[in-house]
Amino acid sequence: MSPKEKNPLADPSRRAPETRIVHGGTERSQHGETSEAMFVNSGFVYPTSADAEARFLNKAPGHIYGRFSNPTVDMFQKRMALLEGAEAARGLATGMAAVTTAVMSQVRAGDHVVAARALFGSCRYLIEDYLPRWGVASTLVDGRDPANFAAAMQPNTKAVFLETPTNPTLELVDIAAVADIAHAHGAKLVVDNVFATPINQSPLQLGADLVVYSATKHIDGQGRVLGGAILGSQELIGGDIHTFIRQTGPSMSPFNAWTLLKGLETLPLRVRQQSESAARIAEVLSGHSKVARVFYPHHQDHPQVELGRRQMRTGSTLVAFEVAGGQAEAFKVADALAVILISNNLGDAKSIITHPTTTTHQRFSEEVRLDMGIRPSLLRLSVGLEATDDLIADLMYGLDQI
Ligand SMILES: *Cc1c(COP(=O)(O)O)cnc(C)c1O
Repeated sequence: MSPKEKNPLADPSRRAPETRIVHGGTERSQHGETSEAMFVNSGFVYPTSADAEARFLNKAPGHIYGRFSNPTVDMFQKRMALLEGAEAARGLATGMAAVTTAVMSQVRAGDHVVAARALFGSCRYLIEDYLPRWGVASTLVDGRDPANFAAAMQPNTKAVFLETPTNPTLELVDIAAVADIAHAHGAKLVVDNVFATPINQSPLQLGADLVVYSATKHIDGQGRVLGGAILGSQELIGGDIHTFIRQTGPSMSPFNAWTLLKGLETLPLRVRQQSESAARIAEVLSGHSKVARVFYPHHQDHPQVELGRRQMRTGSTLVAFEVAGGQAEAFKVADALAVILISNNLGDAKSIITHPTTTTHQRFSEEVRLDMGIRPSLLRLSVGLEATDDLIADLMYGLDQI
């Protein structure tokens, strides 16, 4: 190589994901700071009135107002887009703001949406309760079989929404198969990739049109801030999505963007460690006499393990399991734990255990819960960064209390 040739790594697209999310998107101010600067301001000034006019006409680059864009939020968006391999990204106030924006920006009264029934509680609320209130019909299907999506499509179906793995039972949906079905009907596929993270699964590469995140989870990963993100083509993100955010205001705060930028730098390290621990824990739990069933996408007992191995790089940082018995036994296990915390967040450095029946999925009738596979004996474990042996010992102690 001649020394005059440009260093290929000067092109960010030639860098590995780990490199992209340490350096990607950084825009240094005149002070040359190493870490990203936090711009905590709502407005921007223009050198002249003509310059202000040009920016409002979209004829000159530059920020206008914090609801539309902010330099720190921009850095977060660029870094997310580099990590995901997306053309564009937008940061939002919360994961739910991202889901609501992604779905609502694609529909109007008279349209129809198809969604997998096993969804994060608030996502299901949006699809099942709010959309019909606004004249958008919705159909929920069992997402495990792509044929169920095909059967639910209507001429006015504009969007298909799913999450995989699902919360809390870690069922899988075949993203590539559902993308083909959505596109054959002219509908957009929106994938909630929170449980898999960008490290373990790449929905855009599998055919999805939009991918959404609750950045509150693994992307922060340390229980500090709320945030969300939507990623996809420049056409969709710069068009429908940008307009929806600009006009309705679910914008990300600069402080949260800054915190999440720091979270992104360690995301691959954390998610790989947490996934490795989770796989070991799933293996230990699956052989335990007080455990009735284990749900883990890369475990040989998972009914969709072949799809899990094809679609996901690891089996996820979460493990769900049913204890022998019912709610009383599940409570006994959770209450006996010393390291693992009882909480409903996930993706955190601290391991967290949740009893979905009485917390995250409490508002559903028992019939709907059981239909989603959520039994009173089910516990969902979000594996953190503690020593795996400590987590296993903590769980063994808890299970011994049954
Ligand atoms: C947490 C979560 C959301 C919502 O994110 P918030 O940041 O809490 O608004 C959406 N989908 C899934 C799968 C989640 O786990």
